[in-house]
Amino acid sequence: MSENHPISSLLPAKLYIVATPIGNISDITLRAIETLQQVDVIAAEDTRHSGKLLSHYQIKKPLFPLHDHNERQRGNVLIEKIKAGQSVALISDAGTPLISDPGYHLVNECRDAGVDVVPIPGPSAVITALSAAGLATDRFSFEGFLPAKEKGKQDKLKMLIEESRTMVFYESPRRIQDTLAQIVAIFGADRKVVIARELTKTFESFYAMPAGEMVDWLNQDSNHCRGEFVLMVAGAQKNEESISQVALNTLALLKEHLPLKKAAAITAQIHDEKKNELYKWGLENL
Ligand code: SAM
Repeated sequence: MSENHPISSLLPAKLYIVATPIGNISDITLRAIETLQQVDVIAAEDTRHSGKLLSHYQIKKPLFPLHDHNERQRGNVLIEKIKAGQSVALISDAGTPLISDPGYHLVNECRDAGVDVVPIPGPSAVITALSAAGLATDRFSFEGFLPAKEKGKQDKLKMLIEESRTMVFYESPRRIQDTLAQIVAIFGADRKVVIARELTKTFESFYAMPAGEMVDWLNQDSNHCRGEFVLMVAGAQKNEESISQVALNTLALLKEHLPLKKAAAITAQIHDEKKNELYKWGLENL
């Protein structure tokens, strides 16, 4: 029997997308463990990293490396295996595959090739963080990682200025300070933010405060920037009387080159705001 034709597959030949823990090794479902025990092959982002989880649950299976850099070339090999009768599980280093993790191209190609894809749900940092943050969760926007480069990050945040849903970002310890500083510059110092740090791990902690205070808090102690972060930002609030943040930013920019009256008039035209209110706000704040 060739490698592609197992004698007895315990599971139907499909691709199983299996969520694994984001910290606490017990956060894995019974169905996820059973699936990993029964598939023919486990495709993993980092086979050494996943090896620890698998050995904890005494799961011994052939591992197939599938990461961002080889997914497009190697995905076809997995599809061929499934077509030949093997069952394949996809796991990532933590949480749900495809959520800021590899797997999109593989799943997309499976769908195109008529190969069944079965989700085995479990932890994901975005949902875990939202569930305990105390921000609105009826609607939210998952933004993943912001661009690493300054200009790309600023442009992305500017696009989100009017976003009224809670926004959720993944962020690295190296960038969290700069990202908060950009949020203050673009969304304003009063915007409420919540940081969820080290979720499900020993030092799990939540911090909720206005963005301006969060910048100070992060700068206070380098330990505050350690660990894994989910950053949540309250959506923009616009009531009848308030001026949108994007208009305020335009006014501040124009005021650097024009008298306040003129800057307010132009801003009012661009953003459909009241000239007098902009002028008044400018007198008080600029
Ligand atoms: N697939 C994962 C999921 O379902 O959440 C996300 C993988 S992404 C490459 C890793 C990022 O997720 C981290 O940089 C961090 O922003 C967030 N993250 C993952 N685990 C976390 C945890 N235990 N606590 C806080 N954030 C976490």
